[in-house]
Amino acid sequence: MIQKKICLLGSFSVGKTSLISRYVNSLFSDRYLTTVGVKIDKKQLTLNGKDFSLVIWDIAGEDDFTNIRTAYLRGMAGYIIVIDGTRQNSWEVALSINTMVKANVGELPMVFALNKADLKAQWQVEAQQIRALEQTGYPVLETSAKLGLGVDEVFTQLAQQWGISHD
Ligand code: GDP
Repeated sequence: MIQKKICLLGSFSVGKTSLISRYVNSLFSDRYLTTVGVKIDKKQLTLNGKDFSLVIWDIAGEDDFTNIRTAYLRGMAGYIIVIDGTRQNSWEVALSINTMVKANVGELPMVFALNKADLKAQWQVEAQQIRALEQTGYPVLETSAKLGLGVDEVFTQLAQQWGISHD
């Protein structure tokens, strides 16, 4: 079993905890519980006959992303940056986080999750901004933690990058 630490990053309230809860426990809650510091979950994933033991870190920054303790990122094999499609600002935060992570830990597998796809009528993130994400070369996937859409795919697409870039 290959153990892989992955981190979910993004602005507050974009759905990091909800995506993990949907992925690990197939559950969703409308309640908003602030993550204090870090919460760790585990889940097994099999891809192309390889078993991965995912250790999933839910990391909260105190005032948005700026206070993410970079110590939490140490040893991770990849990360997911979550954007709330209904909040323009979460797109900017996502790009800043990516810059920060790259400066701290270097180039790693990553996936952008454009969350709250069930609220598409209220999306503020524009098509041009989504293209800008795609142009970074990382996968960009629409998700709904609420409906369970695209969630497994986010983790699978991250694992696929290990197949290519490592071992
Ligand atoms: P975090 O701070 O990034 O961990 O965000 P949470 O997972 O706590 O979610 C923040 C709020 O958004 C909660 O009220 C969730 O119920 C809600 N939420 C999360 N994901 C979705 C989604 O896909 N669709 C909708 N409609 N709401 C969501």
